[in-house]
Amino acid sequence: MSLRQNESVTPGTSTNTVFLDRLARARATMDERGVDALLVSVGSDLPYLTGYEAMPLERLTMLVVPRDGDATLVIPRLEAPRVVEQPGAFRIHPWNETDDPVAIVASLVGTPAVAAVGDTMWARFLVELLGHWPSGATQYVRSTHVMNALRMRKDDAEIAALAAAGAAADRVAAELHAGAIPLAGRTEAQVSADISARLLAEGHDVVNFAIVAAGENAASPHHHPGSRVIRENEIVLCDFGGTMAGYCSDITRCVYLGTPPADVAEAYAVLHEAQAAGVAAGVVGAACQDVDRASRRVITDAGWGEYFIHRTGHGIGMEAHEDPYMVEGNDLPIESGHAFSVEPGIYVAGKWGMRLEDIVVASADGPLSMNHADHALVTL
Ligand code: ZN
Ligand code: ZN
Ligand code: ZN
Repeated sequence: MSLRQNESVTPGTSTNTVFLDRLARARATMDERGVDALLVSVGSDLPYLTGYEAMPLERLTMLVVPRDGDATLVIPRLEAPRVVEQPGAFRIHPWNETDDPVAIVASLVGTPAVAAVGDTMWARFLVELLGHWPSGATQYVRSTHVMNALRMRKDDAEIAALAAAGAAADRVAAELHAGAIPLAGRTEAQVSADISARLLAEGHDVVNFAIVAAGENAASPHHHPGSRVIRENEIVLCDFGGTMAGYCSDITRCVYLGTPPADVAEAYAVLHEAQAAGVAAGVVGAACQDVDRASRRVITDAGWGEYFIHRTGHGIGMEAHEDPYMVEGNDLPIESGHAFSVEPGIYVAGKWGMRLEDIVVASADGPLSMNHADHALVTL
């Protein structure tokens, strides 16, 4: 993730309203779950609530949210200029090099009966916090207890950010489809670097991955692009994404260099139908596993079931993979604002592989696709 200031998080929206709203929803969940204090440090929860992403340093940065009362961002004084204080949402409390920041955190809340601590808070701070609020007096729970339901339900600003990142990834996919990204004769690694550069040129701040897998390499879903030279008459699978203004893109498209043989063409038709069925199943009130079942049924019915070797999708937002997961066994009901990938694949070891992936946001009006690039197996 890139380091950024909090203005960039909420395109087109009043920043302050967004963070006030998110903090209000966090407090409502704290209330529901009997959490007295929420403490978030490095990781995605902090930028979600404040717009500020802390450097993962030894100096403590922590947002302290009491169930009642003002939220405070405790931050090293030298980092404070990077933060825009959000009046009404949180105030900042800079600490000096000789201060004890954990004591400052502890002093902001009387000993809480239940404290929710960030999953990725450094253990050193939690251990020191235990000196102030011993585990006999305070029960500790993970911050996901408060944050997970919130983070899964994307608000309008987040959906706009996902749509913008998706559109940028679509433009790179369109370049791939148009033949503007040379393939034959180049190595997978060269094409991967080319796609990465184009993601940045289209506005991404960071590239998270750019899988390029040719021919038999495409049968390995997370193939690492290497020195393999791409040739005529083979499939090329490209799965790429990055982070743009704090939110992730993730798209997979395949192209065929030449005329696809019958088995590839048939399998792709099945894949295309399976992906559309998965998207259509992503409706509010369905279970996450229903998305997986919808895609898998199409592939299984066509006789390719044993070649679909992974879950159908993952949640996406500030992180490339986050809750909810579209997998058998996950009966979590899909809610409006849930954002996830739908990415079935068919992989024939030693021969070829294919995957088709879009990001989808569930809404009252049905599934909204964040990707619109051509879904066909484009031939070049
Ligand atoms: Zn993956
Ligand atoms: Zn992907
Ligand atoms: Zn994905």
